[in-house]
Formats: sequence, C-alpha cells, structure tokens
Amino acid sequence: MAIFESTRGLIEETEKSGLPIWEYVLKTSCEESNISEEQSWEMMGKTFDAMLESYRSYDQFQVSASGLVGGDAEKMRVARNSGDTICGSFIGSVIATALTVSECNACMHRIVAAPTAGSCGVLPAVLLPYAHVKDLSRDDLIKALYVASGFGAVIAQRASISGAEAGCQAEIGSASAMAAAALVYLHGGDLRMMENSVAMALKNMMGLVCDPVAGLVEVPCVKRNVAGAMNALASAEMALAGIESRIPADEVIDTMKVVGSMLPPSLRETGEGGIAASPTAHRLFPDGPKI
Ligand code: SF4
Repeated sequence: MAIFESTRGLIEETEKSGLPIWEYVLKTSCEESNISEEQSWEMMGKTFDAMLESYRSYDQFQVSASGLVGGDAEKMRVARNSGDTICGSFIGSVIATALTVSECNACMHRIVAAPTAGSCGVLPAVLLPYAHVKDLSRDDLIKALYVASGFGAVIAQRASISGAEAGCQAEIGSASAMAAAALVYLHGGDLRMMENSVAMALKNMMGLVCDPVAGLVEVPCVKRNVAGAMNALASAEMALAGIESRIPADEVIDTMKVVGSMLPPSLRETGEGGIAASPTAHRLFPDGPKI
C-alpha cells in the first residue's frame, strides 16, 4: 500500500488528480509497489473475499482455546432476529458481525487483519450489513477497501497501527477511522467528510489502552471491535451531516502517536495492566500472560 504522509495530502492530491479517491489510492499504490492496476484490484478482491469468508466460517458452538470467547455472536443474532432490541435490525447486524469475525479470530480462523488481527471485526461489521441494506456490489466494497486502506496508510505512516506500540487506540481506533471513511465514501460523502470522519473516529478512541487478558487477543478485544464499529457509524453519520472536527485529522493522528508513546508498557499489549490486571483476570490466569 502506498505510503501517504497526511490525510490533507491524500485529499489534495486526489482532488488534483480528478479521480475518485479509491482510484487515486489504487494508482498511487501500484506506482509505489510496481504492480499493475489489474494485479492490485485482484489482490484487493481476494482480500474482500477472505473478509467475507471469515464471516461465513463462524461456528456458533466453537470456543477459543482459553475458553473465554465463543457463542456471543450467535446470541446477538438471535436477539436481533427476535425484533425485540434497543437498536433495531441494522445496528444489531453490525454488532453481530463484529462479534462474529472477532470470535473467528480468537478461534484461529483465517481473518483479514484490517489493519490488525485484533481489530479484524470492525471493517466487515460496518461494510457487510451496509452492503446488504443498500444492495451494493462486490466492486463497490473493493473500492471502499481502497478508501479505508488509503487513510489507514496515513495513520500507519504518521503514527502507528500497533497496540504494542501505541495502545488499542492504534488498533481499534485506526480500524474505526478506516471504517468511517469507507462508509462516508459508500454513502456518497465528499473528501472533506471522509477526513472529518477519520478525525472524529480517532478522537473518540484517544487514549484507549491495550490490555488483553492473559495476553490473548480475546478479552476485551472481541467486544471492543463492536465499540469500534459503532464509533465508525457515528463518526461517518456526523461527517455526512456536515459536522466537522475542530481538530484536523492529521493533528489527531499526531496526537494519538504522542499519547501512545506516553502509555506505560503495562498498557501496551503486555497483558499486565488495565483489564488484564483485574482480580478476575488474575483468578482466571494466576500465572499471568500466556505470550
Ligand atoms: S486490546 Fe490490544 S490486543 Fe486487544 S484489540 Fe486492542 S490493541 Fe489489539
């Protein structure tokens, strides 16, 4: 993927090119990685297919090796199908999809790290239900993945997408920002709206620590994917309504990097702090992190 240095640069260069943003990201990334546009499109198509397959591979009876994760996506699906929910069918699908793909990751299925394995549920959680409701094509969703990857590349370049480096704000936060931009694109929003959605999504996740119980990407990771997806929806919705972030996206990304560097090691994927240090986590895993 192309290394875009700023969201502002990405947007201004896209405007100059006269291309839709997905195509600008596609062309630029091909130039940098020296592959043809056909090859790139095929690879992104395979990425989308793998994302879809990770959703379809769910087994409601399977639990993770630790026993901490499994079956919650099915509970959510049953609740949504009952019609008796607070949030309604679409949001119920988003929550269920985030749980589905994240549980599959915990159960060692093949998933798409988008941008990481721990945050693999966020993008499919918003893209698949939205595509279903709007009857979108596979090509539409591949284009949305290019949009998400363009903004994700900026975050990776300017800050980090690693929980070990900058906390969960860099994993679930980045996934949420990428998903927000993809949603704005799919809903017909303009480039400024995409930029604003990224800024708002990341601000809402600022300071989120990485604290996996026993060092396993299970608790709180699986349910945190739901939060990332819901935040993406809200950020995209606000941006599409014309609400702007008072702080530009690039400054938010830079701030996330600073905040990440201030987090102690115990809150950066070591499984030693945060929820991982709760009494119940200690009782479940008295010998500490497994990794
Ligand atoms: S808590 Fe850590 S391991 Fe879990 S999703 Fe967040 S960054 Fe990844």
